[in-house]
Amino acid sequence: MRQLLLVCCGSLLNFSAFAQGQTFDSWLQELRAEASSLGISEITLLALDQLEAPLDRVLELDSNQPEFVQTFGRYLSLRITPNQIDRGRALLMQHAVLLEEVRRRYGVQPHYLVAFWAVESNYGRTTGGFSVLQALATLAYDPRRADFFRRELLTALQIIDDGHIAAEGMGGSWAGAMGQLQFMPSIFARYGVDGDEDGKIDIWNSLPDIFYSAANFLSQSGWQGDERWGREVLLPENFDFGLAGSRLRKTLQEWSELGLRRVDGTNIPIADMNASVILPSGAMGPAFLGYANFRTTMVYNPSIFYALTVGLLADRYTGGPAVQRMLINEEAMSVSDVVELQELLNSNGFDSGAPDGRVGRQTRMAVRAYQRSVGLATDGHASRQLLERLR
Ligand code: CA
Repeated sequence: MRQLLLVCCGSLLNFSAFAQGQTFDSWLQELRAEASSLGISEITLLALDQLEAPLDRVLELDSNQPEFVQTFGRYLSLRITPNQIDRGRALLMQHAVLLEEVRRRYGVQPHYLVAFWAVESNYGRTTGGFSVLQALATLAYDPRRADFFRRELLTALQIIDDGHIAAEGMGGSWAGAMGQLQFMPSIFARYGVDGDEDGKIDIWNSLPDIFYSAANFLSQSGWQGDERWGREVLLPENFDFGLAGSRLRKTLQEWSELGLRRVDGTNIPIADMNASVILPSGAMGPAFLGYANFRTTMVYNPSIFYALTVGLLADRYTGGPAVQRMLINEEAMSVSDVVELQELLNSNGFDSGAPDGRVGRQTRMAVRAYQRSVGLATDGHASRQLLERLR
């Protein structure tokens, strides 16, 4: 789960320990005093004495910029494999009683919950391998998002103090996302549920706690238990690509009138639902309609690739087909390609912002404006072909 990592910036303007040249040890003593003033017990605070200097590996991962921009095809192929599908089906059967109990209570269908579990931690096998306290302390001491991670660290200490988990059992990702469904401490505090009623919320080891907590989060974020996530569709030949994107919604009736069809060519089923057209590989690649549950999945992790993967994997568990119109040989852009594309767009009068090698909203808007000006399909998709054309 990444959702809170993206709303936390702004700490660069504050006085951080790092910027003041404060040592880690003296910073930690201040944090200890603050935690103590918040009522966290001395026994829990002993865990802070075990912390080492900021972890280089955490900072490295935090500032890591990949060399290539991930393509949808590559992203999907790493996460939806025959082995993953078989394993998910076996786990759905193995935990059928528990998952049905969770569905009755929160309205999240088992195949979706298991798909989240698969994508977040490979069904609990890879939860990150970091000490959450150590990771959060490192990021809270670092200036970039100090305030956000300081709050998360204090919340993590509160979770330990409340007896849910021991400090040494509190494992997670380099960014402090914890347990088998990768909850940040603040999400744990708000949505964690003691599913097996043993008095502790253990999202590291207890499957009832893990499933209840994730389903509670999804349910409170708008999950619809009687709806699908969306589906792959065919676009009509004259489709206006300016209508694509997760921000624009139309009713299924409207999309049908615009000529969208199921991938087998039949009419899309009409229900009283809003949907967006999602094009993860641009106009040449597959097209999807994303419904309300697609939007809720993006609350869990605000990535279109992520949300499509969860939905498509859930479909595969229940016998749905693979993506029909997958783009083969989708060419990945390097970060320097993207920088060059942004520079070329800017110099041609299409403002893509300061060239940073990341394809964000402004770059997509600039791509669209350029595409419109030269009569290309306005899918806003940054690609190597587009770069070559601009060159
Ligand atoms: Ca429990």
